[in-house]
Amino acid sequence: MEMTMTLHNAQQRDPRLVPAPFGSRLDTYIALSDFDRPTLVVDLDRVEQQYRALSAGLGRATIHYAVKANPAEEVIARLVALGSHFDAASRGEIALCLAQGARPRDISFGNTIKKPSDIAWAWDRGITLFAADSEEELEKIAEHAPGARVYIRLIVETSEADWPLTRKFGCDASKALELLDYATDLSLEPVGFSFHVGSQTRRAEMWIPALDALAATWRAAQAAGHELSVLNIGGGFPAFYGEEIEAPEAYARAVMGLVTERFGEVAHIMAEPGRGMVAEAGTIVAETMLVSRKSDRDVHRWVYLDIGRFSGLAETEGEAIRYQLETGRDHEAMGPCILAGPSCDSADVLYEKRPVMLPLGLKSGDRVLIRNTGAYTSTYSSVGFNGFPPLDVVCI
Ligand SMILES: *Cc1c(COP(=O)(O)O)cnc(C)c1O
Repeated sequence: MEMTMTLHNAQQRDPRLVPAPFGSRLDTYIALSDFDRPTLVVDLDRVEQQYRALSAGLGRATIHYAVKANPAEEVIARLVALGSHFDAASRGEIALCLAQGARPRDISFGNTIKKPSDIAWAWDRGITLFAADSEEELEKIAEHAPGARVYIRLIVETSEADWPLTRKFGCDASKALELLDYATDLSLEPVGFSFHVGSQTRRAEMWIPALDALAATWRAAQAAGHELSVLNIGGGFPAFYGEEIEAPEAYARAVMGLVTERFGEVAHIMAEPGRGMVAEAGTIVAETMLVSRKSDRDVHRWVYLDIGRFSGLAETEGEAIRYQLETGRDHEAMGPCILAGPSCDSADVLYEKRPVMLPLGLKSGDRVLIRNTGAYTSTYSSVGFNGFPPLDVVCI
């Protein structure tokens, strides 16, 4: 009863927003709150739910949460409490995990591009597992973390992911085999391979080409006498952005099925979900700043939000990730529009090639909820390009 009253009051405070009276914890919190700038609200219970689902599906694999997807302290703390391990890319991410109580042995330094001083710093703090995809990186590790365990990252030639991570990372199979030998020469302990299938790989069977390639390299390394104990399958676990995806547990189980078919018993399998862990736990609360037309005959409205490409929505680049939008007027007549951010940069257009449907009555001041934005938003937000405030984060 009291809840209904409060929600009723919230409705009076912001008549443009229709709160879901008995909707999710997240929606209730948003409906009851005022925000003075674009804000990402993250439901930690939802993160926990994803962790449990992924963990059930991944079975014997160890989860190393990819910190870059959402490094909010509360998210890391909740995952530490759940027993997650972490994939960190920098000294800052390692320090964050340690500060939230993660044990050094549960943190891998997974970036293939590391500063020597950061390698030394991490080694000093007890981090023992490092990634590499080149001779020079192995030399840095050998010098600053002598005897460390290393895995070699393989390039993924073709990716069907919506946000591929190819080209920049990894090396080809023959180079990878040479690097295992070189690591041994440098008195490091080469333990295995890693790869990343590409972020937002919507269906489990899209992993097959990458896993087949990896399996061939794995066998070649064994044939050359290397004892491999670590298979790091990276991230790629998808989030719902409007196109159908499998539920996290079923997806993870299907991927593990494909892994087992190809690799049998491997001592240690690591998985590094980022997006799949946190995206669906977050909603961004944004505001419409302006709705306009460029001429009287213009068929398209331009809708400008107070958040854009530089304040958290970087993954709209190439319109690769299409976020779902929700307003308090979604029951009214809808029409297409071009969606843009607030800054004075013409690259700050979110969706134009495929216009977005928004209510025809939408106007300045109206709230816009951007769904499933818990991953790769706060970390992409600039300090405050053009004076527009960076994305705020609230964990509930
Ligand atoms: C970014 C990253 C991940 C997370 O990828 P998602 O697609 O978000 O799951 C995992 N591993 C490495 C090495 C990464 O760089």
